[in-house]
Amino acid sequence: MDNLNIRNINGYTIQLVADHIYAIDEYGIDIMYLVEGSSRAMLVDTGAGVGPLKETAAQLTDRPVFVANTHGHIDHATGNHEFDEVYLNPEDQWMQEPPYMTEEHWKSFCAKTMQDPFYTGGDLSGKTLHAQKPPKKLTEGMRFDLGDREFEAIGISGHTPGSMAFLDSRNRILIAGDSIVSTPILIFDAYSTSVRTYCDDLKKLAAREAEFDLILPGHFLRPIGKKYLFDLIACAEDILAGQATPKREDFSHMSSEEALSYRKGLATIVYNEKHIG
Ligand SMILES: [Zn+2]
Repeated sequence: MDNLNIRNINGYTIQLVADHIYAIDEYGIDIMYLVEGSSRAMLVDTGAGVGPLKETAAQLTDRPVFVANTHGHIDHATGNHEFDEVYLNPEDQWMQEPPYMTEEHWKSFCAKTMQDPFYTGGDLSGKTLHAQKPPKKLTEGMRFDLGDREFEAIGISGHTPGSMAFLDSRNRILIAGDSIVSTPILIFDAYSTSVRTYCDDLKKLAAREAEFDLILPGHFLRPIGKKYLFDLIACAEDILAGQATPKREDFSHMSSEEALSYRKGLATIVYNEKHIG
């Protein structure tokens, strides 16, 4: 018996992190969130799609579940195929099923995932790759009414062009995907836009900081505080002003592009010259 509000369903570690919000940790790979409203439930992201997610969500809520994606990366949207109603920004749609995602690539993704030191799941070697259905359009300012609570979609272009955060201002919660995390923000590869668009959109979000206290990120520690948002803005501003003193890092496991890492306060941004402005 513990008092951590943590349980394990189908290998997912599930924690009640706020009122009617479950963080679903997908085997140390990523974090999804299930928000239960009075009339329906919103599942933010579907992870790498390696577990039985729909059935897991059904054990947490008896409300109908729809999906809203923070972005299209394969560790956040691959489980979309399990659900009938999925919202994803059209700019990221190709990423949920990228052209390079062959059966062979999927197998190597699973093998790499199993080798990750943070991985807590089982053997993925027999996991099947499923075809995705076309998602519904997710756009800036869209509102999702769950009955007794509502989320507004806010675009944060940077990590990917179509990255979105979801704000529940009544309950003072922001679900941020990979745009605000306690680990490095990656803006250095073919998926990313630029530090400039990222900084501009973070400032747009910061202008509304009175509407939220907690930030629920797409990886690692959760929840995190607003200091991450302000430090990320300061970090991005240094890069844009040419005042950053970055370190060259090895991100060759993710991309062949150069990766420069710059830290300011709690924030780290990984970027390169092609993705500044
Ligand atoms: Zn991502």
